[in-house]
Amino acid sequence: MQLTNRSKVVSNKEMTLMERAYLPAIVKGMGITLSHLFKKKVTIQYPEVKRPIAPVYRGWHVLKRDEQGRENCTACGLCAVACPAEAITMTAAERKPGDENLYREEKYASVYEINMLRCIYCGLCEEACPKEAIFLTDRIVPSDMLRQNFIFGKDKLVEGTTADKRIDVGVRGGAHRKED
Ligand code: SF4
Ligand code: SF4
Repeated sequence: MQLTNRSKVVSNKEMTLMERAYLPAIVKGMGITLSHLFKKKVTIQYPEVKRPIAPVYRGWHVLKRDEQGRENCTACGLCAVACPAEAITMTAAERKPGDENLYREEKYASVYEINMLRCIYCGLCEEACPKEAIFLTDRIVPSDMLRQNFIFGKDKLVEGTTADKRIDVGVRGGAHRKED
């Protein structure tokens, strides 16, 4: 029984001398290669050239700070529970006296990690967060040769404190570092 109309009956007939020489097949193959040299290229020279991305693109997460520069995240764990890929892990800690300028809530994440290889960029962590602490941005996660480099900790997730290091998440697609 044929599953598609593209199946072919295999021929067992003996190859001719020309076919056994492989030369015509090589010339034909080279002809196809040469013809592609003059066609419009479908590849782009990333990262020098970047494709336009959809306005709703979801990429590299950011952990936001409030207007006073304090981390919004209170390590409640709701984002980790909502994550279908189990990509988020964190360690909660109590805010110490004197650290009120660092963390907005009495509890904060001393460790917060996202496994960017497990993440499917669904955005459920953003939706689950009651503190407007985590957002997905239009930044593309950079490529790397080592798997362990895709475990993003707070150093890669928390936005900077200075105005030029803040990340605008007001409009999806407008999320970017100010210097970009
Ligand atoms: S975007 Fe989705 S998969 Fe990625 S960390 Fe958030 S909830 Fe998990
Ligand atoms: S990012 Fe939001 S949901 Fe996740 S632990 Fe922090 S406050 Fe909770």
